[in-house]
Amino acid sequence: MKKISIAILAHPDDDAFGMGGTLALRASQGQEVHVILATKGEAGGKNGIESVREKEAQNAAKLLGLDLNNYHFLGFTDGQICNNQYHDIADKISAILNEVIGDEPAEVDLLTFDRYGISGHLDHIAMSMIATFVFRRSLSKMDQVTTARLLYLVSSKLSRPTPNDSYFVYGPAGVDEKSIDIISDVSSVFDKKVAAIKAHASQNPDFILRQGDLLKKELFVIYDGK
Ligand SMILES: [Zn+2]
Repeated sequence: MKKISIAILAHPDDDAFGMGGTLALRASQGQEVHVILATKGEAGGKNGIESVREKEAQNAAKLLGLDLNNYHFLGFTDGQICNNQYHDIADKISAILNEVIGDEPAEVDLLTFDRYGISGHLDHIAMSMIATFVFRRSLSKMDQVTTARLLYLVSSKLSRPTPNDSYFVYGPAGVDEKSIDIISDVSSVFDKKVAAIKAHASQNPDFILRQGDLLKKELFVIYDGK
């Protein structure tokens, strides 16, 4: 049975920073791994930063062992994802799902950030909601998809006990340990994950790397399934 993991995210660093280990692990186990990115991360930098960030994403993908042909940039603008684009983004994602899943039976996981966007970034929150919509409207209704799961990446309350006031937006607290469904141990690909995080040099990778050993476990809630 073909197994496919598809990450649906907003920015070029969202895969490496949040779930890079899980994606690397699954690719190393022979799964087909796709990454759909709404934007090229053009906010928070000088003119032309998007080409730098696209390049960084490609380098990070290589370091994670992911196939660059499986990166799908939707072409929306960082920081400007809004209601008016909701169905346009959803339709583009659905078209990619149709193409990559094909007609043969497949087991599919969609991976995205939790409803709080992990960090509270509104683009993350929008993509989480849109991924959920696509899961229910499209993926769960595909006959050839025998099993499907919608996985939300979460952080634990224990590792993120208080909202972080120094972050540039309100940083939500994590979830209770008991509500975590999957603890993805990525120790075996940790070097790849760290290298991929560092590849995003324009995105303050040290802020992420400060989490140290916490980065060896990626936490998910199974929000929906078929
Ligand atoms: Zn992001």
